[in-house]
Amino acid sequence: MCGIVGYIGGRHTIQTLIDGLKKLEYRGYDSAGVAVLENGSITALKESGKVQELQKLFQREYPEYIDSEARIGIAHTRWATHGTPVQKNAHPHLDDSGRFAVVHNGIIENYAALKRQLELKGHTFVSDTDSEVLPHLIAECYEGDLMQATAAALKQVEGTYGIQVMTVDEPDSLIVARRGSPVVIGIGNDETIVASDISALIAYTKQVIYLDDDDMARVTRDNIDIRNIDNVPVSREIANIDWDAGAAEKNGYDHFM
Ligand code: GLU
Repeated sequence: MCGIVGYIGGRHTIQTLIDGLKKLEYRGYDSAGVAVLENGSITALKESGKVQELQKLFQREYPEYIDSEARIGIAHTRWATHGTPVQKNAHPHLDDSGRFAVVHNGIIENYAALKRQLELKGHTFVSDTDSEVLPHLIAECYEGDLMQATAAALKQVEGTYGIQVMTVDEPDSLIVARRGSPVVIGIGNDETIVASDISALIAYTKQVIYLDDDDMARVTRDNIDIRNIDNVPVSREIANIDWDAGAAEKNGYDHFM
């Protein structure tokens, strides 16, 4: 299980996400990807290998990213459990319409059955992963509220997840949820960073909220609405991190461990 990072705020989002992924590299991973929402559509780029390779891919295939005005996005470093570590299996995954994007840490145990049902409904899959059922399932459940659609999809899922979800229909918020894989929300100044691990967000804020299992949250730049999977509001404490970004670096050593 590797890393996820999401961002919503005023910074250059693609660069912020790539920087966040670099902070998660110490966990080990085999591929990486970023999806951002800009001008009503989602752009997703992913690559096998290092985050550095992903950055090169952006420079090669999407050089206009330098001027990107996207201010919301999600990103992932993958440690393959289902499907080989090749580009098509890297996250983020999108539904057929390209309107929903998901990154996922964990394992969907019943993905084969869900995939069969979705294929019967006309969904086409492009990867060999368990995770790809999520955007298709969420698209299928969507009736105008991404948090509710995500909850309805997760109720059908057996397994573990830390996820981030984004849709073109709700360009000002991200949905995150966890069961068995960590999710931490960093509260910035008119910006919110969500990650699997505080090292990805400590450069931006020291105020964080850790989600518990079966929590979900709708995050915007300046608001965090946490609910359980049955849509009942839950309250979680804000924690103050008492170490700084330098403590999460290698400090001259070759390896983290
Ligand atoms: N099971 C998913 C996959 O193989 C997620 C792996 C991970 O946690 O990185 O793509």
